[in-house]
Amino acid sequence: MTCGCFGLVIQSRVADDSGMSKTASNGLLCLTLLIAAGVVGVVLWRAGQGPGHQVERVGFQDADAPLMMPEAGEVDERFDFPSAWQRAQIPQAARFDPPLGSDHGGFTYNAQGFWEMNDGRGGRHLGDDLNGIGGMNTDQGDPVFATADGLVVYAGEPSPGWGKVVVLAHRTAESTVLQSMYAHLERIEVVPGALVARGSRLGTVGTAHGNYPAHLHFEMRASDALSIGAGYAMQQLDRLDPSATVAALRHAAPEDRSPAVLACLLVPNDNPWSGVETKDAKGAERLMEILGKEPTR
Ligand SMILES: [Zn+2]
Repeated sequence: MTCGCFGLVIQSRVADDSGMSKTASNGLLCLTLLIAAGVVGVVLWRAGQGPGHQVERVGFQDADAPLMMPEAGEVDERFDFPSAWQRAQIPQAARFDPPLGSDHGGFTYNAQGFWEMNDGRGGRHLGDDLNGIGGMNTDQGDPVFATADGLVVYAGEPSPGWGKVVVLAHRTAESTVLQSMYAHLERIEVVPGALVARGSRLGTVGTAHGNYPAHLHFEMRASDALSIGAGYAMQQLDRLDPSATVAALRHAAPEDRSPAVLACLLVPNDNPWSGVETKDAKGAERLMEILGKEPTR
């Protein structure tokens, strides 16, 4: 049965004078109902065939899972830029210090400098390999310090060859964003998103699971995109000479040993014992009292 058939029926009845309007209105009602049924049918059919039907729906608990992956199936970290809000949290660093040894880099040596050719690795070294003066594994477990006030943008283990890695973002006095990278760590003592002060501990010197004698692979990068990348290459990419960069951004006299301003701000001051001097017996007694123990005499 088609609309055309109904049309013919309506046409034939219209010719008849008696009861013409009644028959015509009935016919129009049928025609309207048929068109409506057709529209509903098409809508239902489209709903079943549309591209949205192919997408697997996720529950609300998966709402923060990535909606789409790149075609290659792996996220390219080079395009992981900080959001405007994350970028605003990167602190300005007024001073940079060496990350190992004393705050002047004492008791350390650089076993493999920046841009040295390494035939075994098939490229040039993109960082400094800092060691304790004892050599080999004598510096294993030594503290690694933040080279400047910064924001932890990475703390994790990207690969067994890198071992544990921390990356900080810093803002220079000229508002340029730089990154410092600390690799082959034995321990990580910071979390992503944390503010760290110059000279505060990030972790300890390690061997990347015994892959190398203990040392700190330290890089400086002129970038705000997070990309772990490789430690050797024939192109300089975004890497800077770490020692030269730290020296250029020190802005401090050799004898200046003042702590970072941010370090003072980050010290928790709500502990009842934070203001107690324990240099004399009275102070020690006060501390024990706070800690709920009997003072020792
Ligand atoms: Zn290295």
